[in-house]
Amino acid sequence: MSNTSDVRTVDHLIIGGGFAGLCAAIKLSEDGENDFVVIERASDVGGTWRDNTYPGAACDVPSQLYSFSFAPNPDWSRSYSPQPEIQAYIKKVATQSGTLDRFVFDTSVEDATWDNQTQRWIVKTSGETWSAGTVIVGAGGLSEPRLPEIEGIETFQGELFHSAQWDHSVDLAGKRIAVIGTGASAIQIVPELQKTLQASGGHLDVYQRTAPWVIPRNDRTYGALERKAIKHVPGLQRAYRAGVYLAKEATVPAFTLWPGLAAPVQKQAAKHIAKGIKDPELRAKVTPSFAFGCKRVLISNDYYPALDADNVDLVTDPITKITGSSIVTADGTEREIDVLVVATGFFTTELPITEHVTGSDGKTLAAQWQESGMAAYKGTTVPNFPNMFFIVGPNTGLGHSSMVLMIESQVAYIRDAIKTMRTKGFDVLEVQQSATDAYNHGLQKRMKRTVWSVGGCDSWYLDRHGKNTTLWPRSTWDFRRRLAKFDPAAYRTTTRTGTGAAATEKASA
Ligand code: NAP
Repeated sequence: MSNTSDVRTVDHLIIGGGFAGLCAAIKLSEDGENDFVVIERASDVGGTWRDNTYPGAACDVPSQLYSFSFAPNPDWSRSYSPQPEIQAYIKKVATQSGTLDRFVFDTSVEDATWDNQTQRWIVKTSGETWSAGTVIVGAGGLSEPRLPEIEGIETFQGELFHSAQWDHSVDLAGKRIAVIGTGASAIQIVPELQKTLQASGGHLDVYQRTAPWVIPRNDRTYGALERKAIKHVPGLQRAYRAGVYLAKEATVPAFTLWPGLAAPVQKQAAKHIAKGIKDPELRAKVTPSFAFGCKRVLISNDYYPALDADNVDLVTDPITKITGSSIVTADGTEREIDVLVVATGFFTTELPITEHVTGSDGKTLAAQWQESGMAAYKGTTVPNFPNMFFIVGPNTGLGHSSMVLMIESQVAYIRDAIKTMRTKGFDVLEVQQSATDAYNHGLQKRMKRTVWSVGGCDSWYLDRHGKNTTLWPRSTWDFRRRLAKFDPAAYRTTTRTGTGAAATEKASA
């Protein structure tokens, strides 16, 4: 790291200190690329797992897959880890990695602009300004809470917070609470609120716009013996992880293309409703009208019984407005509340960070993506944004397995890109438009056939054009294979002695 008058210079600048940014920091460090900083807007590592502290927050991906392959965690207490354990794991890995001295906390990236003159990124933060040779964006796809645009919401006088910004100072006992949303976050929150309010005489209204498919959560505590074995028997945890991984990979990617394969699971989900809910009217209300898998499939054992409880009402009439103390629905009913929890998701297809990043042609990434939606090469690099790498970029999301697997694949690619820059003397790498187009053409062609596109639902996977720019439509090992080696042929490269436009690789997804 070096300083000029007011700009500090680093080889690499990483944005975000969640799983993605931390993985990049650890692997760069392993490669001897130690001249980097990680800019993190909060005061701790963890990203989404630091922020989502709502009651019931837990992972819906099995614990054994929810860790870095290079840092197995023998301490998981159960098959689906609760949020505090995941956050503790991330903190432990960060501390043990020895990279924390390069994290700059409580600092937001305000603007990152490619300087054509110096061929470097100038990154203005709420603290210092940095000049960086490469920028790795690990800002997360689920990091910007989306508040619902409902008339009058700003006039609400009670307590109001988003699921990802839970206000633990609010005493919920005995209150009248409303939860808007029935996605992955809400179905973890609702049973917890139901219990709290049951014990204290309070009431819960759950506002459902679209009923999700929910299957049983096969969660269990690891016994003492099992935990000991995982810790001490060589290879056992690795085998366990491999088993869970294969079980997921073997079935889920296939059913996204052939939704008929999911019929037995859909049947199981229907039985789950019947088992959890006695009231036939309520059963009908929670039965989805779209194909299984079109929206994220949720897992819970206590969501349906919570909805069926006496102190909970499921409201399916559309919300028309919010007043100072109530929610009004289309049928004219006004329900008074004290606390409003909005579990309405995140900005996933119009990522706010893209407004703050300006490429070599002077346009922001948001402007570049405005017309035809988010698109990157291998989810990682974007034309006009040289030496910038995205982790969890476009079409890297998963509905069925752990994002940590995707993050590791992308970091492997980025490491190899940086190594290639060193060995070949490239100062600049910029993915070619033709390679990006070919890659996305293949990807979107396949996407059109998936249950996410033809399953009869609207979801956060789709952008405003109805295009799926968020999910990866194949297996995770396929993604890993494609990103195993950096492919300079897809890039325009510049060395100190000139520019080389390598032939575009045949890059179809
Ligand atoms: P989400 O899946 O986007 O769900 C948002 C919910 O809010 C949906 O039910 C949506 O209804 C509803 N909604 C949005 N705007 C509304 C409005 N104006 N009026 C009424 N309802 C509205 O968000 P999330 O539950 O926070 O989950 C987001 C993602 O986070 C998940 O898909 C998952 O990837 C991740 N997550 C993971 C875990 C985990 O365990 N690993 C846990 C929680 C979340 P519609 O369905 O009609 O749009």
